[in-house]
Amino acid sequence: MIPNPKVDDPTFFIGGGTFSVTLANTGDGQENPRPPPTIHTCETEIELPITIKIVLLFRKISLASSEGAITLFINGVLSAIPSVESLRERERERGREMRESKGRAVVVGGSIAGVCSAHALLSAGWEVVVLEKTTAPPTGSPTGAGLGLDPLARGIIKSWLPQQQSDNLLNNHTLPLTIDQNQATDSEKKISRILTSDENFNFRAAYWSDLHGLLYKALPPNIFLWGHLFLSFNLSDDKKSVKVQSKELQTGKVIEIVGNLLVAADGCLSSIRQTFLPDLKLRYSGYCAWRGVLDLSHDEKSKILVDLQKVYPDLGKCLYFDLGSGTHSVFYELLNKRINWIWYVNQPEPQLKGKSVTIKVSNNMINKMQNEAEKVWVPELATIIKETKQPFLNVIYDCNPLKKIVWDRVVLIGDAAHPTTPHGLRSTNMSILDAAVLGQCLMKYGVENLAEGLEEYQSIRVPVTSKQVLHSRRLGRIKQGLILYDGKVFDPKKASLEECGDLQQKNMPGFGDASLILSKY
Ligand SMILES: Cc1cc2nc3c(=O)[nH]c(=O)nc-3n(C[C@H](O)[C@H](O)[C@H](O)COP(=O)(O)OP(=O)(O)OC[C@H]3O[C@@H](n4cnc5c(N)ncnc54)[C@H](O)[C@@H]3O)c2cc1C
Repeated sequence: MIPNPKVDDPTFFIGGGTFSVTLANTGDGQENPRPPPTIHTCETEIELPITIKIVLLFRKISLASSEGAITLFINGVLSAIPSVESLRERERERGREMRESKGRAVVVGGSIAGVCSAHALLSAGWEVVVLEKTTAPPTGSPTGAGLGLDPLARGIIKSWLPQQQSDNLLNNHTLPLTIDQNQATDSEKKISRILTSDENFNFRAAYWSDLHGLLYKALPPNIFLWGHLFLSFNLSDDKKSVKVQSKELQTGKVIEIVGNLLVAADGCLSSIRQTFLPDLKLRYSGYCAWRGVLDLSHDEKSKILVDLQKVYPDLGKCLYFDLGSGTHSVFYELLNKRINWIWYVNQPEPQLKGKSVTIKVSNNMINKMQNEAEKVWVPELATIIKETKQPFLNVIYDCNPLKKIVWDRVVLIGDAAHPTTPHGLRSTNMSILDAAVLGQCLMKYGVENLAEGLEEYQSIRVPVTSKQVLHSRRLGRIKQGLILYDGKVFDPKKASLEECGDLQQKNMPGFGDASLILSKY
């Protein structure tokens, strides 16, 4: 009889050279009385080249011990993701070292990239001020819609949350997304057929405002200046400090803040980026996305939900992509019986008014979209779209990858650094990783050697985000039936197995690769 071992907080360090697994022998079940649990710890020192990525591809490890053989079964792939505690400890330690020579950062933009930059820079021992033009934190009525968080981003977020509750806090605000499934919809027969299903997907679904609220509330009070519109900045003559001008929207007063660093987290239409790259144009993808969240939380036995679950049985843990002819939709469940959906529609580029990629929609536009949904999608999905109050329309852009995201004492982060289409579920994850890497680089080099720290941030992030932006662009064109760069067009009705494999999220360059953030440490 094989004992029933339990892996107790396996911890993997990259670059640190230590790999340790603790096994608790919990006895052999029914045949023998359960002995008091014996803890076996095996520690192996592995000398690693600094940049190596550890991926343990084993299904079964046998270890001999004086008590007999212990067999540890591990299914699937275990990537070397640093434990939250190790990240935290590393940050605390470096933060302590840095505290003596504090830098001061002015962050423009208080969305996901801004709030994450604040966490990462505070952990690095910096002072932080965040300027956000929105007048108040997005509490009360929910803002935004759903997003998917990858394991690495979740680990980083946990390291920023209050220690005792971090696991619960993040899990209580998210639902699992363990399956990535693409299916072809036959719009005439109103049936769907599975094209590809990856059951080892390890994301979690969050509501934008839940995630933002969680991160914002974990920051110290008074570092955010809400209702402050960034206007301009000047570098000092020696290019070692930056003076930022912003307008307090309520009073019209202009204020100046001086810092060692300006962090541009002002989104895909970044005005700070424009000062360095005035000719840069975003690329219209060829399609817009209708989006919405149907809230069924008030209805315990919702018929809509029951009907949906009959056709989509993995709802609650699956990221569903439905591919029609020249169009596709995505949907998944969020916490509290909310269904998040996105429907991509090919159309000429609409005129943007003001600084937002979200367009105001009329009732007429909504009615037209809902009628069209009935024609294209299976009835259960069309119902979700039709029943959603206040759907909104995003114009989908990206941008050819930037070669530079650092100029003297100014650094781009999040969508400002790499506007991307949403097909690879990357923008939020990239923002979180950008912030974590920036924080680590500033910690490593200190204020004295800030230029080197920023250079290293750029050299770590640009290669991977560039690949991810281009991959996401291709994925969008495949799923929208647009002509690809090799002249081909993906047809979900005729696609080969190999072509269907291209649809999976796990093909994203750098997918689940922890070494991307820690390779230089
Ligand atoms: C309200 C809101 C809701 C969202 N909901 C979702 C969602 O449901 N799902 C999803 O996948 N993504 C959503 N996003 C986008 C998502 O946050 C980003 O794509 C991604 O996380 C990268 O974030 P970012 O912080 O780089 O950019 P953004 O989220 O675009 O944030 C840029 C921030 O900069 C501020 N800003 C811009 N210019 C100035 C200025 N001159 N002065 C001061 N502040 C300025 C903006 O007000 C904004 O808060 C949402 C974004 C916002 C702002």
